[in-house]
Amino acid sequence: MTRASLVLNAGSSSLKFAVYKDGPGTRPAVLRGRIAGIGTEPVFSARDEAGRALPEDQGMQLEEGVGYDPLMASLLDWLNSRQGGVTITAAGHRVVHGGRDHAGPARVDAALLTELATLSPLAPLHQPHNLAAIRAVAAAMPGLPQVACFDTSFHHTQARLSKLFALPRALTEKGIIRYGFHGLSYDYIAGILPDHLDCRAEGRVIVAHLGNGASMCAMKARRSVATSMGFTALAGLMMGQRCGTLDPGIVLYLIREVGMAPEAVEHMLYQESGLLGVSGISNDVELLQASAEPSAREAIDLFCERAACELAALAVTIAGLDAIIFTAGIGENSALVRRLICDRLTWMGVVLDGEANGRSAVRISSPASAVDVLVLPTDEEAVIARSTQALLALQNDEVPSGQIARA
Ligand code: AMP
Repeated sequence: MTRASLVLNAGSSSLKFAVYKDGPGTRPAVLRGRIAGIGTEPVFSARDEAGRALPEDQGMQLEEGVGYDPLMASLLDWLNSRQGGVTITAAGHRVVHGGRDHAGPARVDAALLTELATLSPLAPLHQPHNLAAIRAVAAAMPGLPQVACFDTSFHHTQARLSKLFALPRALTEKGIIRYGFHGLSYDYIAGILPDHLDCRAEGRVIVAHLGNGASMCAMKARRSVATSMGFTALAGLMMGQRCGTLDPGIVLYLIREVGMAPEAVEHMLYQESGLLGVSGISNDVELLQASAEPSAREAIDLFCERAACELAALAVTIAGLDAIIFTAGIGENSALVRRLICDRLTWMGVVLDGEANGRSAVRISSPASAVDVLVLPTDEEAVIARSTQALLALQNDEVPSGQIARA
């Protein structure tokens, strides 16, 4: 039996999981999978270490409408019963918001769960589901060590000025500051920068994490200096369904003059805006690229205009730019989006190699470019596995069962 850690990234209706053999350092997952359609018609998919899809008869059998708790128990059973199976020794979770106090991963206990639940209003799309997954694991395997890895932690290196809003000081003291997100992705990219850039890895780098959620992080010496997201994951870039930075007066107008309830405004800003809202078609860039509708192209153009503007603003915080890294679903796959962003940055000395960009090569800048432009796939799960195993090794584990919070 292989001893391994289970990594979980739980969303509202989907659960991504990955399994990593125990041991120091970063290694590939032995299994990666996803359960979509939780609560309705669940669909299971998984890939082995070599990236091969598991045949259907080796997958998990799921019942319609199954909720998180029974699903988690089934997933753990399935993992433990696989041929040449694994013994799960720990679970590491992506938790979007760690608030002010968590500059690194934290061992889960009842007090931590209570604390993290108070942050749910700041990340309503993610935090409640991240915590539900922790509770479901605790219910299925009481006593299993669990570790929360926060998307906010990577940004704890930022100076106070980068975190402040121009609001009354009392609100700053109450914690209304920029936290920033996508930190697990930035942590992974920061870790591999030396493999792809020479001494520039330690220089001025902007990482563009462009997925359905999108943000950018300006780094110096591979540490976060500034980021485009803020108090919540709504701020900054235009996203798949989220609006990004908005004139706050619009929110007041919608509530006061249009008569929208705050909940309806929240839903619109998180779920009905961004690429989906502007195109009126989809949040999926691949679909929008294939569409002949002018609104589809307008949505992509606006996405790229906003991204280039944010990138230029972030370059101020690191006094220039040595490299741009594109990552996540859109950043890794859309040559059009990368080109439309980089074409707006030629005045900064950015010159793309069109052919290399077209095939999503690692280096997509031309030798003439003053700024290196790279495409690097991110791997948030690898960071969670590494952090989970490192924290538990440090604590020289063995927590009595029952100490882990239960559902
Ligand atoms: P993520 O949130 O990182 O999984 O990214 C998901 C998004 O990546 C999707 O909604 C698509 O917009 C985009 N995407 C994935 N594959 C492609 C592709 N081949 N071409 C363009 N966009 C893609």
